[in-house]
Amino acid sequence: MTQTAEPTRQPAPGSPAPQPQTTEVPIRCVTIDVEEYFQIEAAHGAIGQANWGDWPSRVRRNMDLLLDLFDRTGCRATFFFLGCVAERHPDLARRCVDMGHEVASHGLMHDRLHRLTPETMRQDVQWSKRLLEDQTGMPVLGYRAPTWSLTRQTSWAVDVLADAGFVYDASVFPVRHPMYGVPDAPDRPFYLEGGAGQSRLLELPPLTWRVMGKKLAVAGGGYFRLLPLSLMKRGLNQAAAEGRPAILYFHPWEFDPDMPKMPLNMTGRMRTYTGLRSAADKLEQIIRDFDSGSEASVTGWLPIGEHLDRFKTMAKQTGGFTLLRQAAA
Ligand SMILES: [Zn+2]
Repeated sequence: MTQTAEPTRQPAPGSPAPQPQTTEVPIRCVTIDVEEYFQIEAAHGAIGQANWGDWPSRVRRNMDLLLDLFDRTGCRATFFFLGCVAERHPDLARRCVDMGHEVASHGLMHDRLHRLTPETMRQDVQWSKRLLEDQTGMPVLGYRAPTWSLTRQTSWAVDVLADAGFVYDASVFPVRHPMYGVPDAPDRPFYLEGGAGQSRLLELPPLTWRVMGKKLAVAGGGYFRLLPLSLMKRGLNQAAAEGRPAILYFHPWEFDPDMPKMPLNMTGRMRTYTGLRSAADKLEQIIRDFDSGSEASVTGWLPIGEHLDRFKTMAKQTGGFTLLRQAAA
């Protein structure tokens, strides 16, 4: 798929500034971070990795629900698998590929990159990438860091990911947040360069809605469950009007009203347990509304890997932004 450029026209004096235009179908990608409820960052202090075995696995039930929803709606998605989940449920990643979805990596044990070193991360991503490739027979091209933890402090990870053979990353959230985010990162695809300028990754940031000079997170997760669906729709419409891809993200446990109660603090409880019952209906609404409208088509719902050439073209248009280069020392 190639980008079609609009001919440049000079506006008449006094006319409003021209709006960005695109002549192609907008790109919308549904992504799922495949992890168990007890592996989320909000439970990190309350449930250590050594105690994960005390909690019943729910990921298979929730993946069944999602795969069925995608099958019914004709939506194909990208699944960022946690290595330890793929190891315990060795048929799940293969099932995704057999149903036309893409499998990518979410690391091994859901450690934020801030808790890893370049060497431990190297082992983490190499092992989990190889496991997923063995299980699916397909190359794993993409990576998403647990809890969006690719930030200026962890920019050394770009070299590690490129060395391991990843082509794209989808971990840089271009917003301000106490746990993550690079607020001045672009809201469309751009390139990340490693510290020595030798390695390069295509970066695909999650959808944000730009309003009153700020970028608001509307791409999924807690924002999707806690806020009205109209905010995500506004973000989707704005991205479409600007020819910007909309990368959305969800987790299997977000569709599980019967998820066991974990000993979380009040904020963690609110963020984790709100909106679970309505999440499946909301996701189906988003998929249907933005799948058959006049501005979208089913081709807008391909997995990320199938859009790579087009994303690369868009990244070039941003002027080869190299966000983390200076911060990698
Ligand atoms: Zn995660």
